[in-house]
Amino acid sequence: MKSQEALVILSGGLDSTTALYWARERFKRVHTLTFSYGQSHEVEVERAREIAERAKVASHKVFRVALNEIGGSALTQADIPIPERKSASEVIGSNGIPITYVPFRNGIFLSIAAAYAEVKGISHLVGGWNAVDYSGYPDCRREFLNAMERAVTLGSKAGVEGRPFTIHAPLISLSKAEIIALGLSLGADYSLTLSCYRGEDPPCGRCDSCVLREDAWRRLGFMDHAIERVIRLRSRS
Ligand SMILES: [Zn+2]
Repeated sequence: MKSQEALVILSGGLDSTTALYWARERFKRVHTLTFSYGQSHEVEVERAREIAERAKVASHKVFRVALNEIGGSALTQADIPIPERKSASEVIGSNGIPITYVPFRNGIFLSIAAAYAEVKGISHLVGGWNAVDYSGYPDCRREFLNAMERAVTLGSKAGVEGRPFTIHAPLISLSKAEIIALGLSLGADYSLTLSCYRGEDPPCGRCDSCVLREDAWRRLGFMDHAIERVIRLRSRS
């Protein structure tokens, strides 16, 4: 039996779209929350709205938080170049935390998501965090999500009154190819998703996100964007 309601943090990318379709299988009603955070690839906010609409969510909310005023990331600061890579192994093999890391982004997003969910009476938070391909992002790790789950429960009226939060990270230990395979098995529609850090469509094909995504589709035996473009054109005609 499906239970309760869930709030999915939806960026408009491939991972969070998979998490959305995962949540649709497990919860009676699914709501989505998208952050317009001053990202240079702002176009993903509109894509998220379209993805939510197509997935027939119970509600979709766009929340604005100006992380570009904090800066410190190639995704929010125009004067920091987005790194270019030649292969997925180059991305995964790179040391340290990449410059595309947005300072404490998932901590900020989860705090806002918990506050919003509390007001809506929702206890389940879902996201597309993934620790395999993006092992350089500290706020995508299971230990961090466990700590946030405890923090938002301890720091909220809902938690104190016996309605603890649960943070679901169904993709945390999956590879990018496994994420796509899972999504396809759940009927996920990837035709609107946008992964490019530059927000380019057609995608730039050179940023970390593009390189990982294309590598994953190739592993699955698909020509990612060519296929997707065809699907998208078909859906509009
Ligand atoms: Zn790109």
